[in-house]
Amino acid sequence: MKKIIIVDDSKFFCALVEKQIIDNSPFGVITCNTLEEAKIVLARIDQETIHACLISYRLRDTVDGEAVELFRKHKLPTLVLISDITARLRTRFWRLKVIDYFIKNDKHVVNEIVESINRLKRNPNNKIVIVEDSKTSAKILQTLLEVHAYDVIHFTRPSEAYDYVKYHQDVKMVITDYHMPEMDGCELTRRLRHIYSKQELAILGVSGAGQSLMAATFLKHGADDFIIKQSFLAEEFYLRVNSYLDRLNTYQELATAASNDFLTGIPNRRHFFNVTDTMHDSMVRQNAAVTCAMIDIDKFKQVNDKYGHSIGDVVLREVAGILRSSIRKSDVVARFGGEEFCMYMTGMPSDHAQVYFEKLRQKISNTIIRAEEHTLQVTVSIGVYSTLKKELTSMIEEADKRLYHAKESGRNRVIDDTLMLTAN
Ligand code: GH3
Ligand code: MG
Ligand code: MG
Ligand code: MG
Repeated sequence: MKKIIIVDDSKFFCALVEKQIIDNSPFGVITCNTLEEAKIVLARIDQETIHACLISYRLRDTVDGEAVELFRKHKLPTLVLISDITARLRTRFWRLKVIDYFIKNDKHVVNEIVESINRLKRNPNNKIVIVEDSKTSAKILQTLLEVHAYDVIHFTRPSEAYDYVKYHQDVKMVITDYHMPEMDGCELTRRLRHIYSKQELAILGVSGAGQSLMAATFLKHGADDFIIKQSFLAEEFYLRVNSYLDRLNTYQELATAASNDFLTGIPNRRHFFNVTDTMHDSMVRQNAAVTCAMIDIDKFKQVNDKYGHSIGDVVLREVAGILRSSIRKSDVVARFGGEEFCMYMTGMPSDHAQVYFEKLRQKISNTIIRAEEHTLQVTVSIGVYSTLKKELTSMIEEADKRLYHAKESGRNRVIDDTLMLTAN
């Protein structure tokens, strides 16, 4: 477990923050009350195990922020606690590249500290693209973002940035300058908004001072916000970037929760039909090869009866994991309910489908599942249907009939069109 080091001379405050961190984050806590103690901890600890440090600017044995300097000298991500902020301190903090500072007498400060610590953990997964032809301006933004551990990519050419963002759906935010060769920032914003909604991508425009019309133009083209070059405060910049990304992350978590099955993490039935709906229409128009398969775990009730429901859950997750890792990006697999799964695959000739599902059946039956002190194996029956029909539900019904037939004829087998015809 990674750790947070807290250095503050008030034992009461340390205990308060420690409790909040333990309750609301995945981190452990080490507390120190003096610079001397902090030095001992730093000498003993493996720095790789430290996630972040929360350091008081003033301690009994410091005069002017020596503890903050010490932690920054070790290149540790540092948050600073102060009783009051002055212009001199601000400049010093940003120069030392501290992540943030918190004023201790503020009531909400403990919550904000924990939020900041958690954000620091998430930020490496938050990809931000900076589009700026001036390398100096880009460097300022990039440094600010990297202090907060964001994953930052800089482009000087808007057309290259556009292509990158178009094919990298993991980009969460674009920060774009206005004046650039080829395409201005508003045009880039307009084009990006054609492919990504505000729930999928945040866009911040950067405009020069005194150009309030440009700011308005950015917003009209679909930007979420704008910042004025040269004159923005680091605090304000972080606040905006963080709040847009927090909002985006929350939205995406909700969307994933709504479309994925809670137990196995693969898509649920509703999501399956949302995704395949337009896909199938297009397959029908192209007269393309489509295969539907229904997969059901054999005698699963016996697994629950013998080992208990929670072991049954492990088995479901394991089987779902095998299914998910066996499909290509263009295919869809979903948990339809209970111990039943559905697969939708395109571009696979029907004789290939037969081989593919036979291999899949074998893979599942050969997998040794470990759950608590038990090791167990399960088998599946699979019904496969590969004749293109206009209605996807009709194809699924046919696959279901073949699954029933696989169960009837002894389980642990694949029944596809050829076997179904001989059976009839
Ligand atoms: P068959 O080979 O005919 O498919 O037999 P089966 O026992 O797999 O089928 P049956 O429909 O009789 O039982 C399905 C079992 O799946 C019953 C139910 O308790 C269990 N099940 C459904 N959802 C879950 C779940 O989320 N977790 C666990 N552990 N069990 C589940
Ligand atoms: Mg420019
Ligand atoms: Mg079953
Ligand atoms: Mg079933």
